[in-house]
Amino acid sequence: MGKILNKTILPGSTIGIIGGGQLGQMMSFCAKEMGYRVIILDPQPNCSAAQVSDDQIVAEYSDVDQLVELAKRCDVLTYEFENVDASAINEVKKYTQVPQGIKALKVTQNRISEKDFIDANGFATVPHVVIENIFEYHRGVEKLGAPVILKTIRGGYDGKGQILITDPEDVCFADIEHLLMQGPCMLEKKIDLEKEVSVVVSANSNGEKSIFPIIENVHRHNILHLSTCPAQISKKSAQHIYQVAETLAEKLELVGTMCIEFFISTKDEVFVNEIAPRPHNSGHLTIEACNISQFDAHIRGVCNLAMPKIELLKPAAMVNLLGQHLEAAKKELVQHPEWHFHDYGKDAIKENRKMGHITILSDDLEKTKQAIENNSIWDV
Ligand code: ADP
Ligand code: MG
Repeated sequence: MGKILNKTILPGSTIGIIGGGQLGQMMSFCAKEMGYRVIILDPQPNCSAAQVSDDQIVAEYSDVDQLVELAKRCDVLTYEFENVDASAINEVKKYTQVPQGIKALKVTQNRISEKDFIDANGFATVPHVVIENIFEYHRGVEKLGAPVILKTIRGGYDGKGQILITDPEDVCFADIEHLLMQGPCMLEKKIDLEKEVSVVVSANSNGEKSIFPIIENVHRHNILHLSTCPAQISKKSAQHIYQVAETLAEKLELVGTMCIEFFISTKDEVFVNEIAPRPHNSGHLTIEACNISQFDAHIRGVCNLAMPKIELLKPAAMVNLLGQHLEAAKKELVQHPEWHFHDYGKDAIKENRKMGHITILSDDLEKTKQAIENNSIWDV
């Protein structure tokens, strides 16, 4: 059991983070607060995470020489996104500890292995088939019944690489062919959603876990818009979801933070949608709402510190600031003492790009949600 050999990494040591986006930035804030040194590897000079870290190696994520350089300079290495090359991680393991390992990465990098893994553990996934050509596409649609969603196997995020097929008689085959040209795809039955929820779970190398309260999520155009906690779901669903979190964390030999996304159907069925082997956008509200955040828990996990029991200190709502929202939100900030405002410091403001978020702690979540709904910032 290699994992038992992972030693505790104490403040003063250096943490290397592959990836310098907002997740790396929020990890770094927590690490710096505790007295760690942080070095970021990211191709974008002065990326979000580098702005709050000790140093940055400017390099592509696939640059093995520079990954080795990072590994040599740090006491422990972690990553903030799932598209890290597993073989590169194996290479840098020779030079430093990578307590997260590669199991969670490998399983979740690919929608097929991810669904197989969830199925193998006895948890429900939405009905799906893997297809490689138009012939299999037609067979798949027949088997599942429209509406269906076609998804790429790798690299999708925020709904990218997905096509919704509502009416099989009225589809653009060129779009479907285009996705299929990139390799096998997954065809999923589109579920009538009652709710989407997620659960964040963190662990250290000794197998101690911190499980965060379930979060309820609203997406717009397949991009997370609003998260609230606690989730308004039945006790039975909640128990099941915590059971899934516990089991999958164990089976993935989780170290650090991961998040599991769920669908709850209008028939009250619970499906596991996908697993992110890293902190997650929906978990940002844990920064203000819980005794420790998903990022604190990640740092504690990879440094093998004791994992606390998580408490929700106050109900919370988190709303994303995309490129089209940021400037308007900044202008309004002065009128909102209740806003915990986060700007990731990205230089290029683009439509639908995640630029920041706002968390609001509230004893009346319905009222808070209504206030967000009524605010014209999020009309676009
Ligand atoms: P991504 O990797 O882009 O997050 P997801 O598979 O999580 O991809 O899909 C993004 C969103 O699209 C989901 O959060 C959900 O709102 C919607 N969606 C995806 N698959 C389904 C499905 N099978 N049934 C209903 N809604 C879905
Ligand atoms: Mg998703």
